[in-house]
Amino acid sequence: MKKPKGDPALPDEVVLEGVAASSGMIVGPCFLYLEPFWQPEPRVIPEGEVAGQIVLFQQSVDKARQELTHSFQNTLEQLGKDVAEILEMQIAFLEDRIFLQEVEDTIEKKHYDAAYATFLIFRQKKEYFLQMSNEYFRERAFDIQHLKEMIIKNILGRGTNIAVSLSKPAIVIANTLSPSDTVQLFRQHVLGMATNKGGKTSHTAIVARSLGVPAVVGLKKITEVVKTGDIIVLDGNEGRVILNPTAETIARYKEQQRIFSTREERLLKESAYETRTKDGKRIHVQANIEFEHEVQQLLKVGADGVGLFRTEGLFMKSADLPSEAEQATIYSNIARQVYPNKVVIRTLDIGGDKMVAGLINTKEENPFLGWRAIRFWLDHKTGFLAQLKAILQANTRGNVQILLPMISGLGEIFQVRELLEEARETLRKEGKPFGESIDLGIMIEIPSVVVMADILAREVDFFSIGTNDLVQYTLAVDRGNEKVANLYSHFHPAVLRMVKMTIDAGRQANIPVGMCGEMAGDPLAVPILLAMGFENLSASHAVIPEIKNIIRELSLSDCRALYEQICRINITSEVIRVVRDFYREHFPELPEEE
Ligand code: PEP
Ligand code: MG
Repeated sequence: MKKPKGDPALPDEVVLEGVAASSGMIVGPCFLYLEPFWQPEPRVIPEGEVAGQIVLFQQSVDKARQELTHSFQNTLEQLGKDVAEILEMQIAFLEDRIFLQEVEDTIEKKHYDAAYATFLIFRQKKEYFLQMSNEYFRERAFDIQHLKEMIIKNILGRGTNIAVSLSKPAIVIANTLSPSDTVQLFRQHVLGMATNKGGKTSHTAIVARSLGVPAVVGLKKITEVVKTGDIIVLDGNEGRVILNPTAETIARYKEQQRIFSTREERLLKESAYETRTKDGKRIHVQANIEFEHEVQQLLKVGADGVGLFRTEGLFMKSADLPSEAEQATIYSNIARQVYPNKVVIRTLDIGGDKMVAGLINTKEENPFLGWRAIRFWLDHKTGFLAQLKAILQANTRGNVQILLPMISGLGEIFQVRELLEEARETLRKEGKPFGESIDLGIMIEIPSVVVMADILAREVDFFSIGTNDLVQYTLAVDRGNEKVANLYSHFHPAVLRMVKMTIDAGRQANIPVGMCGEMAGDPLAVPILLAMGFENLSASHAVIPEIKNIIRELSLSDCRALYEQICRINITSEVIRVVRDFYREHFPELPEEE
């Protein structure tokens, strides 16, 4: 918290820094939304009460499930599919028998009452999710917390909803906001959101983006320092909240707000068209997605298809694994909607930080170096075969491609080729229609395959560079560990060399090389990638208008000059300084990127 100097007659401006979760900025009054929660005391019950407490727990879970199902419909109508999806996931958690059984076992074996047993087991589960390094999965901890509170309130008979609604437009300040909170709060009046908890994929972020209002999350203690009615500045671009803003600050932000909205509208309009550099090179900008409903957003921003469909989300959604038919329907829907563009479907990439209850339950010493992704799936041939069959069935128009995660050598590719042939053979026998010819590509995210890229390029149809993992494995820096976050950078010269080696090997063998890691969505990195020769970049739909704009505004000769300069630098911080200068020179109107 820092306090700029101000007029002594007025309270000082206070700037709170958090995480930018939904873009835009707004100046307006606050509404402090705090829902009380009662933490149960440990209560040991006599044997005679055990059965009754188990029934009470089950009834409370059923009630919570009904409430969520009811809320799902309202949410779908009022806030749309993105947000309703969160509730679907919460309902799925409540259908996971293994998980619920743990609470019942705690009542039975430890003789805790239903409320305290729920509190203990849900807290354990929440901690487990909080330890995951993938932000998306870490945020699921808040689903667990929300469910815990709902069930405990049902057990204690305290009711779930507090009747609160916004009568006037305001910026909602809360600890964290669930979709049902937002529906209750009257969405028409929510100007923006600021919460203590959360990261970029928190509920608040998802809800705010779907409402199109600015949000800042992870502010730690904002609920303790504002009151309802205070006027604040909420800057969702910079992840900043300003309390007690001076008239001058308010005027400055209102002007920035106007410029920002005009620019956003322009970029969105221009994003609909195909993208070429200033000197005419066509660049395909595809979208990374995790769920089918995101197709709507990628169509809106004019993405050239799906460059990465992470299928882990399907396996997380319910306690049972998705069947071949369910998967085929989802993959086909996506392929149909993006046709004639392509959809790259990545086979299951669990393990490491992405756990799926019921699939991987074992703890490993070094999960990122362990039984994950392709290694796991090759040991579970039935599941892998079902996924390959589903992908082939979605390929009836020929616009689907298969992408294999975490490939470390040639052997794995041969095994998958055999399995793919088996999948085709079975589909033929079953008489199910499918697209025979399908491109098979690999993620380049382990240094061994970069070194062997010239050999592997002869065995696959395309490469897609996953910098999120390639950076962690090249630099030996855990991608989710905040303590070493300063060492994690795709601008490290070794990473840049790895990327260049891969694209050169792909060129030599005449196969396309794309990039789907976060580096492809980093405006500072795009000029380097263009200079290296990338023609396919895949990033989250939210950054696509910005990335397309950068490509349109630059010529390859500008990018090459930058790259030549960078090739002579051997220190990450110096590379970053040079790319920042280049960025400032070409895009003086833009805020600086971290
Ligand atoms: C990557 O590693 O860059 C990637 C795109 O995969 P994920 O982030 O899903 O591991
Ligand atoms: Mg990866």
